[in-house]
Amino acid sequence: MARADLVLLHAPSVYDFRKESILYGPVSDLVPSTPVFEMYPIGLTTIAEYLERHGFRVRIINLAVRMLNSDRFEAEKLIQKLEPVAFGIDLHWMPHAHGAIEVARLCKKHHPGIPVMFGGFSSTYYHEELIRRPEVDYVVRGDSTEVPVLKLMQHLSGQPEAPTLPEIPNLTWQDADGQVQDNEISYSPENLDHVLIDYSYVVKAVARYRDLASVLPFKGWLGYPITAALSVRGCTHGCRTCGGSASAFAALHNRRRPAYRAPEHLAQDIRNIARFSKGPVFILGDIRQAGEEYTDRFLRSIRGFQGPVILELFRDADREFIRRVAEAMPNWTLEISLESHSEEVRRAFGRPFKNGPTEDTMRYALELGVKRLDIFFMIGLPKQDYQSVMDTVDYCRYLMTEVDRGPDRRLIPFISPLAPFLDPGSPVFENPERYGYRFFARSLEEHRQALVQPSWKYVLNYETQWMNRDQIVASTYEAGLRLNRLKAEFGVVSQAQADQTEARILRAQRLMAQVDDIVSIADAERRVKLLRAIKPQVDDANLSTVCDKAELNVPMRGITLNLPRTASLFIEQVLRRLAPKPKETW
Ligand code: SF4
Repeated sequence: MARADLVLLHAPSVYDFRKESILYGPVSDLVPSTPVFEMYPIGLTTIAEYLERHGFRVRIINLAVRMLNSDRFEAEKLIQKLEPVAFGIDLHWMPHAHGAIEVARLCKKHHPGIPVMFGGFSSTYYHEELIRRPEVDYVVRGDSTEVPVLKLMQHLSGQPEAPTLPEIPNLTWQDADGQVQDNEISYSPENLDHVLIDYSYVVKAVARYRDLASVLPFKGWLGYPITAALSVRGCTHGCRTCGGSASAFAALHNRRRPAYRAPEHLAQDIRNIARFSKGPVFILGDIRQAGEEYTDRFLRSIRGFQGPVILELFRDADREFIRRVAEAMPNWTLEISLESHSEEVRRAFGRPFKNGPTEDTMRYALELGVKRLDIFFMIGLPKQDYQSVMDTVDYCRYLMTEVDRGPDRRLIPFISPLAPFLDPGSPVFENPERYGYRFFARSLEEHRQALVQPSWKYVLNYETQWMNRDQIVASTYEAGLRLNRLKAEFGVVSQAQADQTEARILRAQRLMAQVDDIVSIADAERRVKLLRAIKPQVDDANLSTVCDKAELNVPMRGITLNLPRTASLFIEQVLRRLAPKPKETW
């Protein structure tokens, strides 16, 4: 089998999740991953593809999905067998604070001489803490690390005329005296033209390493192959708990304005994905962010695309925009994050838009043939108390009666807590008192330890002036129960499915109380024993807590992966590799 120069490892949230008894709760109900957060960031594929284009062999191994798919899979044994020039580990969002560090420890244990690099948003935020850990040799900072990682690999491989460590942008490292050096974040590209976001690398890697299992994005992906198309890095908005907000990008990644994918490239990425997958393509980022000209060019380029596409809107839209979307991509689903029914809460969260125009947006979408209209609400927001959460569920009833009046019920509301962590770097994390928040974990190490607490209540890194952690948990389950009943009443879910969801929520509530009792026991050994004893029930309650995860799936018909096409795409990629390479400008 081909040997890789760089092995990119994606860790589970908690490395020992198969042994530990942790009631994760609804932390991942609204994303495709399980609570192990096995989905790796899209940046791993762009780094892999970019380095391959420049002569390095890169292998992505999703340890999390391998561990989830088989109890017998031994991650440590696999790591032991690998011998790359370097290991790369993503620590993008904080739920990986435990697993990522443990995987790095295993790399060092078996290969003390092979460098380990970290990257991702959270790595950037905690670069100084990370670099002082014995498991970590380099941290590559910033939101776009394809070029810095290439330069680091050139350096580590001893290529002639390779840059020295001080010459590598965005790099944090330690010099011979053990002094931490953080090179300036001088690589922050203005656009996303340098990356390929069409998953052709993944197709190629499967054939080269004869290993499909390691690149699967999440458990169950083969049955529901949803993919993402990236329109932007950065954001023009300032949601208070978001580590991807405009202020966080400026402070952490030296990004003054978002980097957009050229609209024609974005449309081509979507068409390329559709060559091997019939699954939905989620366009990350509101396509209106870059302005009208961008939106026009994208909609002109994608016009006639028949595959399922999911779009997200960061605020209300006018009828003309919705009409043009419907015309360009007839198989479209829309997602709107309304956060709360209350305009006051939404404004305090940093989204100052009104209910009226947003409800009109929903009406236009339903009238113009949207396949599904998903509306998201959150718990744990500024100025939001227990009653406000319940009022949000009442508002869902209003939306389902007054806005979606059709018999086919396409408007589907969801509610879930901001969990397990609010992002470091977000306005709220940087200024908790100003926004009415209190944090239980600030450092990387505190977050790492929080992740192995026995229930999500103890994992939560915050509470608010309006709801403590107990109330956040209680309102989540109560809102989940009420919304589930509402969905059954309106036929959005079958009565049988609603009954199952209700039984899961009630079981989760009982288990939360049981965990609370165990936590109050002084004898640590007895605590561990009792927690181990309830592990089977805890594992059972860890999936689809407040709604059934499948509720998020856009319906698909027939075969979802086009395998003959995938094979021909691979051959095409090999031929492309043999062709002369484009000249680099950076
Ligand atoms: S949550 Fe708000 S700030 Fe964060 S990416 Fe979405 S729109 Fe931007």
